[in-house]
Amino acid sequence: MTALRAHRGALLHFLGDPGAGGDASRFEYFEDGVLLLEGSRVARAGSAEAVLRELPRDVPIEDHAGGLIVPGFVDAHTHYSQTDVIASAGRHLLHWLEHYTFPQECRFEDAAHATEVAGFFLDELLRQGTTTALVFGTVHRASVDAFFTVAQRRRLRMAAGKVLMDRHCPGHLQDTAETGIADSEALIGAWHGRDRLAYAITPRFAITSSDEQLAAAGVLARRHPEVLIQTHVAENREEVEWARRLFPRDRSYLDVYDRHGLLREGAVYAHCIHLDADDRAKLAASGATAAFCPTSNLFLGSGLFDLAAADRAGHAVALATDVGAGTSFSMLATMAEAYKVAQLQGQVLSPVRAFYFATLAGARALRMDDAIGNFAPGKEADFIVLDEGGVPLVKRRLAAAKTLEERLLVFMMLGDERNVRATYVLGERIAP
Ligand SMILES: [Zn+2]
Repeated sequence: MTALRAHRGALLHFLGDPGAGGDASRFEYFEDGVLLLEGSRVARAGSAEAVLRELPRDVPIEDHAGGLIVPGFVDAHTHYSQTDVIASAGRHLLHWLEHYTFPQECRFEDAAHATEVAGFFLDELLRQGTTTALVFGTVHRASVDAFFTVAQRRRLRMAAGKVLMDRHCPGHLQDTAETGIADSEALIGAWHGRDRLAYAITPRFAITSSDEQLAAAGVLARRHPEVLIQTHVAENREEVEWARRLFPRDRSYLDVYDRHGLLREGAVYAHCIHLDADDRAKLAASGATAAFCPTSNLFLGSGLFDLAAADRAGHAVALATDVGAGTSFSMLATMAEAYKVAQLQGQVLSPVRAFYFATLAGARALRMDDAIGNFAPGKEADFIVLDEGGVPLVKRRLAAAKTLEERLLVFMMLGDERNVRATYVLGERIAP
């Protein structure tokens, strides 16, 4: 029998979306809880009293007194290749791509460079408590091989894909409809389902893909219903207008993807800011997820994600950093900015729901919720411990927080990597 190990502390995880009202039946919280592991998997989560009563005496117990155990964060949209352009002063999306992002992405043809950046990026994710992410590579096949190689060595559950981009970008960053699909197909064969890795078909956005390339991506998606899809939509008004001019026959920007069979469960659409009610209804019916990227949307002045409209339509939402237009690797900081984006529109994002978006919602978006996202028995034991982290203000404010909601709000508003006491992957502590 595999060895049992117990982790004791306050414990929070989600069974479903607590919704705008913070429905308490959708999460479990134990002030004094135990996460019991059997090897690399969750055996049980519950109150310390209930779990410890039934445990053999010799089971080792790690005491996280003062800490809050939650599932590892899931970042539903980010770009590892943009690690080095974070905090670059782009005026707006299209300017930012041209002046910062595209020049940087040229370097990922070089496997050594890609490997070095992937290592730094994953270290940073783990320091911030993010154990799973859906990640853009660049147009280069080598960028994705490098990323998956590094992620596999660390036994991480990660998803990534090679960017498809055959127009409206520098020539040396272009593939073609044929080479883009051939490279994607090869990467699916090499990596999808290998250990904990998943592939995502990755058209950058409709503007940089010809109709021919999007059609080919749709064919590939039909051939591989098991893989994920990731792209961007309706981020910035100028971009939306450009898409309208490029695809005059389509009713909307989102419809361009839908026409090519790219709107489905397991598809993650970053931004989804400038959508109408028809788009939202279509998103809901498809089972695709909108990735809410608040720090990026504020940084580039793109607009405000409308969470209330998403709820009315009933489409799935997950939370994402969108590094490097996003200004932080931290999902805590991302939750804080999501909260403020809601506030600016007279909406409410409850702290419990923010934590849902950063954990189980992300796992669902990536169709990984059978493996990660909460502490249901049998799940892979990727989890983190949050605490005051030696930060005087956080310590002082937490001491005054009486309820779970207050405590979570302190973590998301004031927290950063100093408050991630430990990150565990498959039951093993790997950071800090
Ligand atoms: Zn992005």
